[in-house]
Amino acid sequence: MSNQTVQCPFCFTQSPHGVRICKGCHAKVAYGESPLSVAFLFQFVALALAWLVFSLTGSTPTSVITFFASVIILLCIIKKKYADRVVFIR
Ligand SMILES: [Zn+2]
Repeated sequence: MSNQTVQCPFCFTQSPHGVRICKGCHAKVAYGESPLSVAFLFQFVALALAWLVFSLTGSTPTSVITFFASVIILLCIIKKKYADRVVFIR
């Protein structure tokens, strides 16, 4: 894909971007994964937005639509933000 390299935080071996396992210590390499805590937090943000819309408009359909719309938008933001993230797991 590209000539980028990633460095393992455990053994400091440089590996080409895209490898699944570190050549130095055989740590697993994951790409584009968002932390569970961030996904969890964003769900609360979507819920808070829906609640805010409901308290402002008093309309259930509008707040449900707001909830799903904000979930989709936030998921897109998370995906973009963490697309280049590389995680080493050992
Ligand atoms: Zn390593």
